[in-house]
Amino acid sequence: MKNKDLQVAALKEGSVIDHIPVDKLFTLVQMLQLDKCTEPVTIGNNLESKKFKKKGIIKVSGKFFTDEELSRLAVVCPNMKLTVIRDYEVVEKREIALPDVLKDVVKCTNPVCITNNEPMHTIFNVEANKQIVKCHYCGKTQVIGNIKLK
Ligand SMILES: [Zn+2]
Repeated sequence: MKNKDLQVAALKEGSVIDHIPVDKLFTLVQMLQLDKCTEPVTIGNNLESKKFKKKGIIKVSGKFFTDEELSRLAVVCPNMKLTVIRDYEVVEKREIALPDVLKDVVKCTNPVCITNNEPMHTIFNVEANKQIVKCHYCGKTQVIGNIKLK
């Protein structure tokens, strides 16, 4: 058994988020509210990685992330890997890609933007080779990796 297989083994049903930058791991743990999760959760950090020097990994039993949850994660750190497991089988394995449009994920940093003054959803377009997001309403931009979440 390869090391890679070991890290996703022993999960009957649930999700694995892999290739997490070590400095983002606990931000993600908070965002996913894993402290409130009653299912088994495995959190690993500073694990060896070929791609990076070190990485973090999160395994959550019985949890299948929604597209909205994944979009929020991708805003904090793009290019992580998601593995979905059902009945011990890997049924999905993909990069957690940033969508072209983020609905109600990002908070606009422009205080006079309509989205900060009316009860409404925010819409941000992902631009510049996925380096920035731009408010659909006022055009204010924010840089990926340093974004204010709603
Ligand atoms: Zn705005």
